[in-house]
Amino acid sequence: MANPSLLILAGDGIGPEVMTEVKKIIGWLGTKRGIAFDVEEGLVGGCSYDAHGTPLTDATMERAQAVDAVLLGAVGGPKYDDLDFSVKPERGLLRLRKEMDLYANLRPAQCFDALADFSSLKKDVVAGLDIMIVRELTSGVYFGEPRGIFTEGNERVGINTQRYTESEIARVARSAFELARKRGGKVCSMEKANVMESGILWREVTQKVRDEEYPDVALTHMYADAGAMQLTRWPKQFDVIVTDNLFGDLLSDLAAMLTGSLGMLPSASLGAPMANGRPKALYEPVHGSAPDIAGQGKANPIACILSFAMALRYSFDMGAEADRLEQAVETVLAQGVRTADLMGPEGGTPVSTAEMGARIVAALDASL
Ligand code: NAD
Repeated sequence: MANPSLLILAGDGIGPEVMTEVKKIIGWLGTKRGIAFDVEEGLVGGCSYDAHGTPLTDATMERAQAVDAVLLGAVGGPKYDDLDFSVKPERGLLRLRKEMDLYANLRPAQCFDALADFSSLKKDVVAGLDIMIVRELTSGVYFGEPRGIFTEGNERVGINTQRYTESEIARVARSAFELARKRGGKVCSMEKANVMESGILWREVTQKVRDEEYPDVALTHMYADAGAMQLTRWPKQFDVIVTDNLFGDLLSDLAAMLTGSLGMLPSASLGAPMANGRPKALYEPVHGSAPDIAGQGKANPIACILSFAMALRYSFDMGAEADRLEQAVETVLAQGVRTADLMGPEGGTPVSTAEMGARIVAALDASL
């Protein structure tokens, strides 16, 4: 069987720095676990603009469509702030998401015990937290028509339209149910069926998909405002949460910040299954290119490393290797090893980006 294929687009700023540490992990999997990936590399964002005058070339787009998974670092930086909107670094990322039709955005909120003090909530509320928010990413009120600012009588009116088709709801619901099967077997769907017709349809369709295709997964429904309260009151009650684009935007930021630093947050965006059964997939840290610390060896590589762990789990069905990698991160954090962004009042061993990567590889070695 062919090796799993990966396109690495490290991008700008700290992107290449954190990606170097992921490559150490990929190398480790090859030499110590006999798991070889076919890795290609390409340019996205400002570095692609510098080389080709566009933030994403057609050739790179084609490769992204062909591989099993894309792993992206970060794009952007002050150097590109004055570029025309059409060639800004972010346009490269948006093109990837749009042309790959990545409709399910996965944002885990996972709290490593060693970092529980970083949360704004009490330690016992967040310690051991492990939830996954699935946000619909390609439809809903950010895309619905009509939209715009119009004049009615003698004043202006701003209009956006929440619009969901049954098939758009069903496909993101399936993503959530598939994830739940690989996790705790529970999905909570959030909408506002009490005041929005799109919410009524959302509730009906998610229930139908569950009843007809995923009877083994437990499904509950919650109004999104109540969901926000429950997320801060007792987040550990949730396993997978599925919600629309707008509510997901808010709830995923809220849930992610329960757990502390931006340098720790991975994400995945998944699309329809390809011919080989794997979903189209793009994995990337939530953070940006962090120009304020780029080139100084200060960046925390864990968000990017955990994004690769998500690729192992969701694109390559290597759940045991993903667990091992996440456990290695947990071990290193428990040893008090800290990049600057993780340095709290209790102190710790300060390390550079490269050293954090090396420590995680050492913990992987120790796990064998
Ligand atoms: P940012 O996420 O780059 O940085 C915000 C703050 O968090 C900075 O102080 C930074 O030093 C810190 N930080 C971020 N990642 C870190 C890490 N891994 N380790 C340690 N500290 C980290 O957001 P910003 O400053 O608003 O944006 C900077 C650039 O990144 C902009 O050009 C923006 O457009 C772009 N951006 C890109 C993406 C993406 O590629 N997906 C996302 C957000 C922002």
